[in-house]
Amino acid sequence: MSENCIFCKIIKKEINSNIVYEDNNVIGFKDLNPVSPTHVLFIPKKHIQSIDHIELEDSSIISAILLGISKYAKQIGISENGYRVVSNIGKFGGQTVLHLHFHLLGGRAHFWPPG
Ligand code: 5GP
Ligand code: ZN
Repeated sequence: MSENCIFCKIIKKEINSNIVYEDNNVIGFKDLNPVSPTHVLFIPKKHIQSIDHIELEDSSIISAILLGISKYAKQIGISENGYRVVSNIGKFGGQTVLHLHFHLLGGRAHFWPPG
């Protein structure tokens, strides 16, 4: 846990959020400002700053996040049409919250390249 991290506060339920997925290592909750019909953030319960800060010992946590995303996508019925998973890293990546998160974006077509 990190003192002033907003996502750590969501994990500790000090800040309200709409949690739609949870297991031992991971939560998934609806983004406050959705950019797609489905916009859920999947985060590790352990405070890790970004993909750039993952250690080998975190491997099972990262697997759990990706499996959670795929499980949830199937559950809500967006797998067949496909969806997008994005993780922004640092300033040039556009990361605004410094707690590793994967955006699950679904429910509409997404285009390439992104902005
Ligand atoms: P980033 O820009 O770091 O990749 O994404 C951070 C995301 O977190 C943004 O899409 C933003 O809308 C979302 N976000 C920021 N603060 C909160 C919050 O307090 N609750 C929820 N549910 N989402 C948040
Ligand atoms: Zn955190």
